[in-house]
Amino acid sequence: MYSERINALPPYLFAAIDESKAKVKAKGFDVIDLGIGDPDLPTHPHIVKAMCEAVKDPKTHRYPSHNGLYVFRKAAADWCERYKGVKLDPESEILTLIGSKEAVAHIPLAFVNPGDVVLYTDPGYPVYKIGTLFAGGEPYPLPLKAENNFLPDLDAIPADILKRAKLFFFNYPNNPTAAVADMAFFEKVVRFCKKNEIIAVHDNAYCQVVFDGYKAPSFLAAEGAMDIGIELYSHSKTYNMTGWRIGFAAGNKALIKGLDKVKSNIDSGTFDAIQLAGAAAMNESQACVTETNEVYRKRRDILIKGLKSMGLEAKPQKATFYIWAPVPKGYTSIEFTETLLEKAGIVATPGVGFGAAGEGFIRFALTQPVERLKEAVERMKKLQF
Ligand SMILES: *Cc1c(COP(=O)(O)O)cnc(C)c1O
Repeated sequence: MYSERINALPPYLFAAIDESKAKVKAKGFDVIDLGIGDPDLPTHPHIVKAMCEAVKDPKTHRYPSHNGLYVFRKAAADWCERYKGVKLDPESEILTLIGSKEAVAHIPLAFVNPGDVVLYTDPGYPVYKIGTLFAGGEPYPLPLKAENNFLPDLDAIPADILKRAKLFFFNYPNNPTAAVADMAFFEKVVRFCKKNEIIAVHDNAYCQVVFDGYKAPSFLAAEGAMDIGIELYSHSKTYNMTGWRIGFAAGNKALIKGLDKVKSNIDSGTFDAIQLAGAAAMNESQACVTETNEVYRKRRDILIKGLKSMGLEAKPQKATFYIWAPVPKGYTSIEFTETLLEKAGIVATPGVGFGAAGEGFIRFALTQPVERLKEAVERMKKLQF
């Protein structure tokens, strides 16, 4: 009944965890869910207010334009200049997105022919691989290892793979490892992509979820990046807007055009009222972002204590609302996730769920309030691994 592309989807690795979670809950256990990468805090009130105003205007009720409202694209360009030091033309170098996930899925349709190789960082956002498979491409994972600070080793890619490689998905600040990349790495990516004629796609979904004074750079600020690259931005994690479905792509004109071609034939753009609220989010004070980050930082410091008390090695990360910790010796990531659930009622995500190279790690999301995290820490203190 299903198409080959659906049948080729990897098995749902979280099924076993979901089942155990339901079992533990059915026993009446108070489960603390640190599995979900979805902000628990509400969208900031001034953005909601902008939406309420926008939706009252009947002009917003019609089909949006294929590449987005100019007001939104201009706000995105100004935002990129203000916070990332990158100058972009809102007419040709910015495209409104229905969240960045659709762009990850649509980009291979624009640039990948059957048999082309798509490089992507592993562990990683599952859509890099699935979007590639849907387009008939051949996904090639680049393992992220702790000893390389979770950056891929571009020099280790075999020559025959490089010859067929068309596109490269990467993501820093990184989900799930919480690793960050510096300009030197981005510049290396530019040289690598130019030399091998590869399109660079940087997923920058977590660039504003940062702590301790760290600022996440834009890939587009690397010398030459605009020649070969595109960068994806999302309001989801920055402004607690996952449900709204809004973000933008920025970068090389021809790449933006290719993505726009696919999108204009598949979707009909983003509701104008959401774009107006999204523009307000970018144009107004960013104090709300700083406030949210302070909440995550406090949570991070609490949870790290709990992990240490159990014997897990966890370092405070500079960005993202995740903690990526190695599992104790003798456990696979799935076994340890199940153990934590059964013994402490704590849900986390097994690293292998993000790709083979995620084996040996577990991801905790800081998307629960401080009281719940403190309760999790109390439970962790009673465990030793
Ligand atoms: C959350 C997330 C996204 C996509 O978010 P959207 O809501 O679709 O904008 C993209 N990449 C990574 C790595 C994410 O974690």
